[in-house]
Amino acid sequence: MDLGIKGRKAIVCAASKGLGRGCAEALAAEGVELTICARTSDVLEATAAEIRKATGAKVTAVACDVTTDAGRKALLAACPNPDILINNAGGPPPGDFKNFSLDDWRKAVEGNMVSPIALIHATVYGMMDRGFGRILNITSYSVKSPIATLELSNGARAGLTGAVSALSRRTVARNVTINGLLPGPFDTDRLRGTSTKLAEVKGVSFDSIHDARKKEVPAGRFGTTQEFGATAAFLCSVYAGYITGQNVVMDGGSFNSTM
Ligand code: NAP
Repeated sequence: MDLGIKGRKAIVCAASKGLGRGCAEALAAEGVELTICARTSDVLEATAAEIRKATGAKVTAVACDVTTDAGRKALLAACPNPDILINNAGGPPPGDFKNFSLDDWRKAVEGNMVSPIALIHATVYGMMDRGFGRILNITSYSVKSPIATLELSNGARAGLTGAVSALSRRTVARNVTINGLLPGPFDTDRLRGTSTKLAEVKGVSFDSIHDARKKEVPAGRFGTTQEFGATAAFLCSVYAGYITGQNVVMDGGSFNSTM
């Protein structure tokens, strides 16, 4: 299925690995011109080269921290008028509410709420003027179902979701949609990293922790970055112009709810 976005320009944040990379690969396969970022330059450049080789797409790599003003400025300088914006960044660290300082809260809100809002603010009006735009915020299923140790993440991501929910109902009249894509457990470095830490704390093997986490998912497995990227690409397609203000959970059935 041709998604109708060949030749469009996309900024995909935090895309050298994991879910961001999955989105970048899927968009590139549709003929979208990419500007991608991550902090670690050599890994980012290697990813950009692999995507170019696999798809023939034009890929510009901007090594930067997207949670900083300077990082976002560099990204927007490389792609001032994107048609597609995929907001993504690393998540705040886990911990105990009791031990979180106000500074921890400020960092979480800055990284996972203010930064994506800043990129939306910088790009959404141009999209509306041009009559096409797709904005996708990669958040987490914790927006719908809070995770005990991830209160910094629960709060900041829910804040972003609330902040754009009314805006998304205004932009859609100009063919600009804003949606959230909410991952449950996906097989990425981040997931493997948290399993490694948990195994160390409990003094058991990585496999025992990782397999137990897998069994908790009704699908009996973790999601793949290809599945995530394909869903993101569809939400950025011409066919998704009637979907806005939605928060699509991708979690193998983990979130237990009738609707
Ligand atoms: P990942 O595999 O660790 O990849 C993270 C990517 O983001 C890397 O390319 C990393 O590169 C980049 N990055 C991180 N912080 C950045 C920053 N400040 N500026 C620019 N690039 C940055 O992680 P993931 O699993 O794809 O997770 C992506 C997001 O989804 C995270 O916010 C995570 O909390 C959330 N999430 C993931 C899952 C899951 O199961 N995987 C579930 C729920 C929510 P550099 O380190 O080089 O910058």
